[in-house]
Amino acid sequence: MDNPAAARQFMVESQLRARGIADERVLQAMRRVPRHEFVPDPYREHAYEDGPLPIGHGQTISQPYVVAVMLQFLQIKPSDEILEVGTGSGYVSALLADLAAEVFSIERQPALAQSARDVLAWLGYKNVRIFTGDGAQGLPDAAPFDAILVSAAASGVPPALLAQLREGGRMIIPVGGLDSQQLQLIQMVAGKPVISVHEGVRFVPLISGKVTSET
Ligand code: SAH
Repeated sequence: MDNPAAARQFMVESQLRARGIADERVLQAMRRVPRHEFVPDPYREHAYEDGPLPIGHGQTISQPYVVAVMLQFLQIKPSDEILEVGTGSGYVSALLADLAAEVFSIERQPALAQSARDVLAWLGYKNVRIFTGDGAQGLPDAAPFDAILVSAAASGVPPALLAQLREGGRMIIPVGGLDSQQLQLIQMVAGKPVISVHEGVRFVPLISGKVTSET
């Protein structure tokens, strides 16, 4: 890749701003974080194209536009503590680290968790911690969170995650089956979750239980 910064600038203008992403902090974070560092070698030259890409273990790095939509919904403040479920490549973890004070991220596949840790450390992110485990349980020891971003599709909102959302906190999560999912935004208002349903998306499923294969 000749000029990743120029490719990112083009991505931000043509894929994000042109489609209505207007939050300048989100656009700036997406201009800064080097997505190509989170994409495995054979796909690296496609890192700034308009789609998801394989990252191994049957998983994908999310489409930049969908990531921007989710981040924009979360209205992250620099002082926020964030929980991410489904670290995958670590790309979204890096964006969250850029936007917030502290990021806790859970990934089910130990190998993906480790490679995300390695890239994030190499890029110098110091405010992200990656855990291996079932993200549907959240991280009770680090709760409550100002925002929760779930990068895998659930059949419903996991109750443990709701319980770990701070008053005034926001959660964005794809809800649905394999073929049809919608982003749900949940805001904790006066101790009650207020849910709104947004655009259709397609994420890999949120899988509960232990890892049984490393394919
Ligand atoms: N935002 C990530 C998306 C990765 S795909 C990126 O852009 O790279 C979703 C990830 O969720 C996969 O890595 C998958 O292994 C993970 N995952 C699925 N079920 C999970 C669970 N119950 N707990 C934690 N991670 C899970």
